[in-house]
Amino acid sequence: ASERNPIVIVGSGLAGYSLVRELRKHNADAPILLVTADDGISYSKPMLSNGFGKGKDANGLAQASQHSMAEQFDLQLIPHTRVTALNPQAHQVLLGDHWQSYSKLVLAWGAEVVPLHLAGSGSSSVYSINDLNDYRAFRAALTGAERVAIMGAGLIGCEFANDLLLGGYQVEVIAPSATVMPTLMPEQAACALQNELEALGVTFHLETQVDRIEQVPAGVDGGVILALTNGRQLQADVVISAVGLRPRTELAQQAGLVVNRGIVVNRALETSAPDVYALGDCAEVDGQLLLYVMPLMASARALAKTLSGERSEVLYPAMPVMIKTPCCPAAVNPPPLGAEGYWQVEQDGNHVKALFNNPEGKLLGFALTGRFAMEKQALSRQLPALHN
Ligand code: FAD
Repeated sequence: ASERNPIVIVGSGLAGYSLVRELRKHNADAPILLVTADDGISYSKPMLSNGFGKGKDANGLAQASQHSMAEQFDLQLIPHTRVTALNPQAHQVLLGDHWQSYSKLVLAWGAEVVPLHLAGSGSSSVYSINDLNDYRAFRAALTGAERVAIMGAGLIGCEFANDLLLGGYQVEVIAPSATVMPTLMPEQAACALQNELEALGVTFHLETQVDRIEQVPAGVDGGVILALTNGRQLQADVVISAVGLRPRTELAQQAGLVVNRGIVVNRALETSAPDVYALGDCAEVDGQLLLYVMPLMASARALAKTLSGERSEVLYPAMPVMIKTPCCPAAVNPPPLGAEGYWQVEQDGNHVKALFNNPEGKLLGFALTGRFAMEKQALSRQLPALHN
């Protein structure tokens, strides 16, 4: 009986929809039910930090409605519905008060924003932007605003800083690290990127954090005051939290699935429960947590084959990430966590080519800024695959 039940996919982000696309290439007939907590609009999440640069608001970033996705890929699509429990033994998921049976279950429910517990009357006016609806609310909040404070100087914080500058806003970035993107770039490359963002007009407050956010009393200037741990105070109309994302693991853990930093899956994207798979930002694939688009596309291709009867393992090639800061093009491919080696840096002003080599001189990672960013493809070809 279970084979007549649909393949249930949870989540309509790039992971869920990439899988649907790939699945239909192999299997035109399998019943697919896609459940999603949001409205099911198809969009490319990386574009959220590029809206002003591309001249697009939230509606402009939407690529296809849930109806056209359902029609094009012959899906039963249930939007605005959250899965609240899994029962892997019974092959069922809980949707509202209804237990839905599945033949195979795919968890593609992404990552959530790391919550910040800030003190102060203004802490509720902080925006985090992790989907199209968040972006819509954020763009509405920007109407009439001039000053934006961004907490976090990682990839997303830096991209928003550049984009908001292009949108005509004053931008201040606050982060505890000594440099921008500390997990992705060595110091020289990070400083080059920071210099270019500063030249464009961004003000950085590094090695400090926001302690509390207070609403400015009505009738004064409006907005909020951010009190930093270094004693400084900043004013802003809108505050963004870009302090990081973490895989959604709670429901999987409650259902007894093995969970580590993400939902643990092997290279066939199989969780510890039979017929339950995970991919995208929620999945820790063979020990690796990669919250980027290229890994989820590779995973979707492999999983589509598996779900169509040909068990396949994902192979991750080197997957460089472009940083979307038009003021300073940058590309990174960080070395594996804990890899032994050293950075070798060639620099011409804010053009930096930093190569991470192991003691035998083999290239394991890189960070490129300015004109060197163009070398990312050539350098990627020299990198080992992530899964050998
Ligand atoms: P999501 O897109 O988060 O989708 C999760 C889906 O699950 C959503 O539809 C949600 O509604 C649904 N859901 C969640 N919980 C439930 C539930 N209980 N029941 C039902 N549905 C649920 N990566 C790059 O490679 N390059 C970039 O330049 C880049 N830029 C980025 C810029 C920004 C601003 C952000 C936020 C991310 C960026 N990324 C980038 C990362 C990349 O966008 C993500 O890795 C990718 O989009 C994750 O897709 P996903 O489908 O796994 O998760």
